[in-house]
Amino acid sequence: MLRINDILDKAQTYLPASDLEMIEKAYIFSASVHQGQVRLSGEPYLTHPMEVCGILADMKLDAATLVTGLLHDTVEDTLTTIEQIEKAFGKEVAFLVDGLTKISKITLGNQEERQAENFRKMILAMSSDIRILLVRLADRVHNMRTLEYQTPERQMYISKETLELYAPLANRLGINSMKTELEDLSFRYLDTEAYNDLARRVVKKKAKRDEYAEEVRGIIHREMDRIGIAVEVEGRAKHFYSIYKKMREQRINFDEVYDLMAFRVILESDKEKDCYEALSVVHALWKPVPGRFKDYIAIPKANHYQSLHTTVIGPYGERVEIQIRTRAMHEWAEEGIASHWRYKEGRTFSTDEDDQIKKLRDLLDAQQEIENPREFMSNLKVALFPDEVYVFTPNGDVRSFPKGATPIDFAYSIHTDIGNQCIGAKVNRTIVPLKYQLKNGDTVEIITQAGHHPSKDWLKYVVTSRAIAKIRNFVKTEERKKSITLGRDLLDKEFRKHHLNFGKLARTKEMEGILAECHCESLDDLTALVGYGRISPKHVVHKFLPEEEVRKEEDVDKKPKKGAGESHVGVSLTGIDDIMVRYAKCCDPIPGDEIVGYISRGRGVVVHTAVCPHVRDMDPERLVDVHWDVREKRDYAVQMRVICNDKKGILADISAAIALMDVNISHAETDTGDGKATCDFTINVTDLEQFNRIVAAVRKVRGVVSVQRRWRS
Ligand code: MN
Repeated sequence: MLRINDILDKAQTYLPASDLEMIEKAYIFSASVHQGQVRLSGEPYLTHPMEVCGILADMKLDAATLVTGLLHDTVEDTLTTIEQIEKAFGKEVAFLVDGLTKISKITLGNQEERQAENFRKMILAMSSDIRILLVRLADRVHNMRTLEYQTPERQMYISKETLELYAPLANRLGINSMKTELEDLSFRYLDTEAYNDLARRVVKKKAKRDEYAEEVRGIIHREMDRIGIAVEVEGRAKHFYSIYKKMREQRINFDEVYDLMAFRVILESDKEKDCYEALSVVHALWKPVPGRFKDYIAIPKANHYQSLHTTVIGPYGERVEIQIRTRAMHEWAEEGIASHWRYKEGRTFSTDEDDQIKKLRDLLDAQQEIENPREFMSNLKVALFPDEVYVFTPNGDVRSFPKGATPIDFAYSIHTDIGNQCIGAKVNRTIVPLKYQLKNGDTVEIITQAGHHPSKDWLKYVVTSRAIAKIRNFVKTEERKKSITLGRDLLDKEFRKHHLNFGKLARTKEMEGILAECHCESLDDLTALVGYGRISPKHVVHKFLPEEEVRKEEDVDKKPKKGAGESHVGVSLTGIDDIMVRYAKCCDPIPGDEIVGYISRGRGVVVHTAVCPHVRDMDPERLVDVHWDVREKRDYAVQMRVICNDKKGILADISAAIALMDVNISHAETDTGDGKATCDFTINVTDLEQFNRIVAAVRKVRGVVSVQRRWRS
């Protein structure tokens, strides 16, 4: 069992004394909060964080990481809070422990293998500091080492998760030692029979193999000495899982796997050219197997692994794999990113991670052609520049979105109908507004309602191109539908004026001619164009009229128009000039009011104020956006109600105040009672601004209690 002194012994080889104090303090803290907890093995719980810390110390990681190793389960499994951790150990450690608590909640569940990559990305994305992931991996290594105490079901589950999530992550970070250990331990539980069989066969040959390894090592050493390259030679059996994978992938049995042994020649020199020289020595000794040489120095692997690999025909005619690399390359191969993240004397980690990020980027930029560059780059980018968020669906799938995505984006990613009918969302079982920005690890559930429609406003909240396209498309379709309805009404009306029936004429040869002339494929296309205002209804009806009648009409059009009256003047609708606009009698809209148009059957567009109570009851399919387009000033009648004290002469005072503003009163009515008088005026104003000025003026009249715009019901 690892003791605190063992950890401190490891740590003191590379950390200053002040750091050791903090580690000791973390040990005491962890021991006290985990007090009384026991692992399934029967050991005190504390052994687990201690072992995790030990693994991290072997990787020579900084003090904050070691302290985090000791504290990693405190928030998750005890009553300790992040605030307590921050108070005792500072912001950096609290940040790391918090990150660990969060990623420990990501479990693969019963997800399909194809989902594993998304889970790996999510873990990377949530490990906003690489040290979080390093502690998580150390945690998993120790849990795998002690997996025998779990139930068989848990063993299978945890092993599968380890093989699918954590071993690939260790590989991606280039930590070979962790990757191979995690793979072998998982393999042991997932296919115990194959594992035992393989272990037995490998061990059976062990004595012979050791003898053999000694011989090969001796030969390599002698030859390297001769040309003056200092090396260390390691000979070891390949790890079980890689042999197993090879047997399965190549469909061969154990005896057919030749290169059970791999030798590593680690150069004390840090010069790449010495590696090539060492290679030529090896190739001079033993004949290389064609096609088996790989130069990962010139072309590093995706995880930045560098080495020369070759397979040669060894002293007994057997295949031997030999890897040649410098000490620095070897450290990277064994510890990957951790070797770049480890404590370096004289500099501690700044909370400002810029230079760490820069270092990693330089590292990655240095990569030339690699096996799967895009994947590795994008994954590391996710970890360092979190521009993606990963969220869960209610059944545990992971989906990725660009940062800033909302539940609407999520809804459209599932299905267009779910997007269109989305009325709300729950994140982690709590209702959120639709503009809520998704966060890593959120579980998102969409609430839909049949018949609900997307709104144009949603475009402000979505970031995925899919959602944008779907909403735009819906809005466009809706606008077309409205235009068709409006165009049809306008055409009906125009045709009726000439005692013609549009519906009946719709299927005639002449109409076909018009469709062709207007480049329309269907009657709907034509009515839509009329609705959009691109073609006037007159233009269509003229095709059905005798020439002289058309000429007569055109003459009328040329004459100057009489007073605008109840015509369209003042309002425009998607650029249409030629539509018939009427002002609703119920709410007397005046320029400056917010307005909406209602497509009435055969009576053009009726303009209401946006606040008119009648609008709420109208068929939303027939409402259109309209806006004021005042080119000539004219008067609009508007209702005003004044409540005042019932005293003599007050009506005259009010009338005088209105008249002073140069405004006509077309109607006035007074009702008295309770010492108060209610006066209703109809006045003619040019716009809302003028109306507001009148209201202000009347308010100043002595005895006036209130002045309001009045809506006729
Ligand atoms: Mn743990």
